[in-house]
Amino acid sequence: MRSTVIMKNLLKLMFAVIATIAVTGCIEKQKVTEKAVSQEPRQAVITFTFDDAPKSVATHAFSLLRDNDMLATVYLSTKFMDESGYVSWADVKAFDSRGWEIGAHTHTHANLTAIPEVGIMQELETSTKMFKDRGYAPTSFAAPLGELNPIGKKIIQQFYASQRDAWGNGGMNALPVQDVYHIKSLPLTDKMTMADINATLDRLEQEGGWLVLQFHDVGPVSTGPWSTTLLSEIVAEVKRRNIPVATISEVLKHHSVQ
Ligand SMILES: [Zn+2]
Repeated sequence: MRSTVIMKNLLKLMFAVIATIAVTGCIEKQKVTEKAVSQEPRQAVITFTFDDAPKSVATHAFSLLRDNDMLATVYLSTKFMDESGYVSWADVKAFDSRGWEIGAHTHTHANLTAIPEVGIMQELETSTKMFKDRGYAPTSFAAPLGELNPIGKKIIQQFYASQRDAWGNGGMNALPVQDVYHIKSLPLTDKMTMADINATLDRLEQEGGWLVLQFHDVGPVSTGPWSTTLLSEIVAEVKRRNIPVATISEVLKHHSVQ
């Protein structure tokens, strides 16, 4: 009788010890997990976008990004295609084959707030047809000059899955993206320096989010206010900081609430 009581008490004690070890183990495990989460850097991603697009996007940007394993989204005005000084359909084919996203930017680079609804429809229909004839179906759009009013927005929503603005919040977007028809971007001008770019990249790394860079003419020589000679330095800096680069539609696929 007495030995049974001792055995019972011993068993109780063993269970208590095992339970304590298990609980302590769980707490330790939990602590490790919390530590890992808190130490994880804030999520940051960059998109390179090229508007219009000047020939330098094909002759300069394309090989530069390809050699650094980076993709881009190019917003094309179909009327400019094959015009002197702009990329050709053959260039677009090379972009597409490489994995670049082909985006739309109207047919004539029209200010969508300065033309009637029927004009907006014509712009988008002509662009869509010219792309379709060559096997492209853009889902990303950027309003020329960043000009978009509620009527224009309503119409482009019928044609495209996203719209990129030409400015706003230094090009920074919170993730997940709340309004895919107002993606903010940072236009690169000939006045910007690498100090400006580094300040922007510092902010991106500190705050997390999505930085959308907006380029026009790029290359070793400045061609005007909307050009930059800094692309190769920017690419090198983004690579050095190991910040992921993705196209507009790729980012939205993973970070959109809509
Ligand atoms: Zn443009």
